[in-house]
Amino acid sequence: MNPLPINDDIDVIHFGSILEEIQEAIAKEEPEGQVAQYIPELAKVDPAKFGMHLCRLDGESYSIGDSDEKFSLQSITKVLTLTLAISLIGDKVWDRVGVEPSGSAFNSLTLLEVENGKPRNPLINSGALVIADILVSHLSDPKKDFLHFVRKLAGSADIHYNYQVAQSEKDWGYRNAALLNLMKSFGNVDNDIDTVLDLYFHMCSTEMSCAELSRTFLLYANGGKLVDTGERILSRSHTKRVNAIMQTCGFYDEAGEFSFKVGLPGKSGVGGGIVAIHPGQYSVAVWSPRLNRKGNSALGMLALERLTSLSGLSIF
Ligand code: GLN
Repeated sequence: MNPLPINDDIDVIHFGSILEEIQEAIAKEEPEGQVAQYIPELAKVDPAKFGMHLCRLDGESYSIGDSDEKFSLQSITKVLTLTLAISLIGDKVWDRVGVEPSGSAFNSLTLLEVENGKPRNPLINSGALVIADILVSHLSDPKKDFLHFVRKLAGSADIHYNYQVAQSEKDWGYRNAALLNLMKSFGNVDNDIDTVLDLYFHMCSTEMSCAELSRTFLLYANGGKLVDTGERILSRSHTKRVNAIMQTCGFYDEAGEFSFKVGLPGKSGVGGGIVAIHPGQYSVAVWSPRLNRKGNSALGMLALERLTSLSGLSIF
């Protein structure tokens, strides 16, 4: 076996041919896992879809497969809601939610009971529900304001909620309602349960393509500034913190595995998307709807592992 390259110069890396190599490798893989079943609207998605898009900070970009088709972002939006909450109340966010990996499933209730209703981190459901509660308290029209914020980060007005997906999740939202009720019993939820759930389900239903998603996350590779306009959305220090949380908590009880195999900060969602960033270099999004048992895209993980192995460019 040839030794893997180790690169510190992004300009010697041929991302175009690396993505083609990934596409060939993915086509040979046996399908593993299942499309998310617990949100009936998501269960209808074609499991064979696969897309990937990488944007460099200098504007170069590379795509393969269904990279322009929109999919449900689901938990990937937890990074965006956290960003909006930090931009509204800064470090006060950490009074309500922790920064430790949970080592349990994204929708687990167990730790909350023993930890007095303070979620381990903002990238699991309980944490994102507390963040949604903060947004309800601080925005005049939370659903509209969040979408407006995401459109600004994406540099596109063509980003929308999928109302059928939001309704479908609401119809089966018992666990999220349980999480909120439990946290409210500890005094960590200020607003009415149904209002917070409604915002949360809509946020999760936001749709983007891999191309739109990787562009949106360039912000986190660019020290907190929008690439197109130079507008600062997060301070450098807050960007470092959000990236650190993605690295340690972005994949629930598979965060260690993702760090070990891919070695980049990232976030997954049960729609089958994964986005990852290399600070100072690039942002990459991949979509394949079949999920492994931890709720992360099986082929998406594999594709990103290949990307960092073949490029030899790592943050570690
Ligand atoms: N909307 C989903 C839920 O609350 C998000 C979960 C996910 O993407 N991991 O269960």
